Amino acid sequence: MRVVFVYPDVLDAPQWKGYYYEGVASLGAVLEEAGHQVGLVHLTRREDPGETLRRIAALAGEGPALVAFSFSSIQKAYVEPLVPLVREELGFPTLAGGIHATLDPAGTLREIPALDWVCRGDGEEVLPRVADLLARGERPSPGGGLWVRDRTTGEIKPGGMAPAADLARIPFPKRDLFDQAGIQGAEQGILSVMSSRGCPFHCTYCCNKALRDAYKAGGQAYLRQKPAERFVRELEEAVRGFPGAVGGFFFEDDIFGVDLEWLEEFSRLYKARLGHAFGCNLRPEMVTPRRVRLLAETGCRRVHMGLESGDERLRKEVLKRTVSNALLERAFGLLKEAGISILTYNLLGLPGEDARSVLETIKLNARLGPDEMQHSILYPFMGTEIYEKAKAEGLLTKRRVLDYFKDTALDLPGLTREQVLFFQARFQGLVTWYRRLERLPGLLGRLLEGLTDRVLQWKWVAVLFSPRPR
Ligand code: SF4
Repeated sequence: MRVVFVYPDVLDAPQWKGYYYEGVASLGAVLEEAGHQVGLVHLTRREDPGETLRRIAALAGEGPALVAFSFSSIQKAYVEPLVPLVREELGFPTLAGGIHATLDPAGTLREIPALDWVCRGDGEEVLPRVADLLARGERPSPGGGLWVRDRTTGEIKPGGMAPAADLARIPFPKRDLFDQAGIQGAEQGILSVMSSRGCPFHCTYCCNKALRDAYKAGGQAYLRQKPAERFVRELEEAVRGFPGAVGGFFFEDDIFGVDLEWLEEFSRLYKARLGHAFGCNLRPEMVTPRRVRLLAETGCRRVHMGLESGDERLRKEVLKRTVSNALLERAFGLLKEAGISILTYNLLGLPGEDARSVLETIKLNARLGPDEMQHSILYPFMGTEIYEKAKAEGLLTKRRVLDYFKDTALDLPGLTREQVLFFQARFQGLVTWYRRLERLPGLLGRLLEGLTDRVLQWKWVAVLFSPRPR
């Protein structure tokens, strides 16, 4: 059986080349191990659905084939027109997986009526089972994480949660499904890798809590770690398979090295057998002297960390991130002292936000001095706590947001849409400006800061200077 993955990964940025995604690469590996052939349409820019269909057809050949879509809520817009085309023009069955389908399997089947199945949760057991059955000319039945639409009655038959993949047993991801030389990071030879799945924290805007709850309800552990020795072997294989010189790794784990004992073992093996510089995601609470020392001596040169909001109340009550500004400052100090560069993640347009709280975020970045900042607009993903809050407070709009750097899906009482877009577009410039003001002598600096605060809180400033929503 041929399985063609379609992975929309579209960003409205001229330099965007798409990113490696371990979810699809891992499924490619288990399917190949089970004797199936796999291909990938990695959709990185908007294109005519007819063109995408031609790419799917070229990979599917004469068939029989299964076309498997993996997408987030935002990228669903690129999948919706494709699924009926695949059914009608190519006659192949279709399956959806990934985060949106996992958090709302019945909704996904309802929203995309041409879909045959949804895989809820990890697909490592589900997809080979479906492919095996189809290869034998049989139809898969619901269960084990597979949700089914009855083609005769249209009824949606629930299939529960898929078994969590055993990271100590599944084959190494099939990285060559992606155009390894052409994706983001390829020019610098930075390989994106993952040592774990899941996250122990509970941020309200993140799918991790909903996923953990879904796995827990089925008596399964969600947070899983690859054994250190096996992970190092995976990295060695990734280096061998990369068509170019490897400059380093980025560990895409939601949080890298949660378990310090694991990190110590990994560090020992990594230094002896690889030793490349790397970057990783970390929580400020986890930035302790011991962990920083360990990371730095293992080769960590860059950390990405969520600051999210500079307003401690919003951060704590709306996002459920209990870290204080003082703790953030301490974390920054430790990382900088160890020579590790920092990127902050920032979120704008939160429920309860106003221009004053956005300025708090901008000013906290100015004070802490990260090397880079990512500043996106909150998107309330279905199934998250913040989605429910926004819904209950009547903040959700029907706006279709295709890029969470370009528009907001919420109508906020304290912050207009223009203000959200204005602050998103001017974020970096404003951080630089406030940083300059901080360096001015006492009274002058405070006067100019107060004046800037006041001007930026006037709504007409955003009306005049915000970019048009896209
Ligand atoms: S720390 Fe990051 S990955 Fe973990 S729940 Fe919060 S946002 Fe999600």
